[in-house]
Amino acid sequence: MLRADVTLSEGKGRSAALLPVYAQFPIRPVRGRGSWLVDEDGHEWLDAYGGHAVASTGHSHPDVVRAIAEQAETLLFYSTAVAYPPRERLAQRLAALCPDPLDRVFFCNSGAEANENALHLARKWTGRSRIVSVTGGWHGRTLGTLACTDGARYEETAARGGIPLSTKVPADAVAALDAAVDDTVAAVILEPVQGLSGARDLSAEFLRAARAACDRHGAALIFDEVQCGVGRCGAFSTAEAVGVVPDVLTFAKGLASGLPIGAVIARPAVTASIGVGDLGSTFGGGPVACAAALATLDVIEREGLIENAVRVGARLTRGARALGVRQVSGRGLLLGLHLERPAAEVQRALFGRRIITGTASDPKVLRLLPPLSFSAQEADLLLTGLKEVLA
Ligand code: PMP
Repeated sequence: MLRADVTLSEGKGRSAALLPVYAQFPIRPVRGRGSWLVDEDGHEWLDAYGGHAVASTGHSHPDVVRAIAEQAETLLFYSTAVAYPPRERLAQRLAALCPDPLDRVFFCNSGAEANENALHLARKWTGRSRIVSVTGGWHGRTLGTLACTDGARYEETAARGGIPLSTKVPADAVAALDAAVDDTVAAVILEPVQGLSGARDLSAEFLRAARAACDRHGAALIFDEVQCGVGRCGAFSTAEAVGVVPDVLTFAKGLASGLPIGAVIARPAVTASIGVGDLGSTFGGGPVACAAALATLDVIEREGLIENAVRVGARLTRGARALGVRQVSGRGLLLGLHLERPAAEVQRALFGRRIITGTASDPKVLRLLPPLSFSAQEADLLLTGLKEVLA
């Protein structure tokens, strides 16, 4: 049962030994199952934030947990210095799940790393260095990805590291994009549905224009699907959902339901000149992460989670509109509720009802990114809480 009498204390129990770099929710979860977390006082919280889109199959899905335990008992780790069947199987499954001709896979450990490696591939393929990205885009915290991420503080960090910044074009501005992409550009990198900016789906026209501009100038189109991919936005890849195929695509977050993993999937032409030593990672494609990812793909398929995300996303969208939310952006279960008041206030009031939601760089947008297994009943609980808060 959700109760409305929760007292919040910000940063509860935060240790001074940890750098204070994260804004933290006022909850200390000790257990999770499906869309629910249980805190140290035994209270249940409905998680419409999904551990930042990571809990794709829900918290601690038994099949994923079993696969992790079995793999850990069998062989916890050996490096990429040996071939290992689960890694090869996962690469084949991802190649089959992504649109043709994306079928060459490199594994690493995070979203930023995946994007960084995608940029390396694009630069090696084209022999160029300039990158074009989109305002509102967020690509990670390595120097290379920060240079493509929108926001003064990120650009300043990249510049302090001596990294040239990307050219940012406004979201959905086709003419600006066409003007920015020329024969000196190695890649256009974008999130087809932007996460942090507020679950903002870029227009089909803009995505097609990006494809065409890259084709015209021999640049690589990179889709950062770290947040929007892995079944969240209407198909396994958002590329498939929007009908535009990039040259390189990146996944991370929900791919292994909570174990660190990143994946770069590229078309063969882009990787043709890649050989031993060009990319690498000690932990990338490790046995346990691959086992967790394989189990995640099985659960997504067996439980029809892509279809569920579409259905429940539509229910949330309809329900939010019926409550007077003027705009709901995004796709599937990556949704932005555009409110008339600060989203942080609404988020806080929902915490008071033990419902966890996300905010966005747009202060009026409440971001929903629950597990792909979020049920219609859970969506209705969220909408009931929202109705009370918005009243
Ligand atoms: N790209 C996008 C779209 C993201 O949302 C994130 C994480 N918020 C990243 C890249 C970076 O991922 P990670 O934190 O795993 O490095």
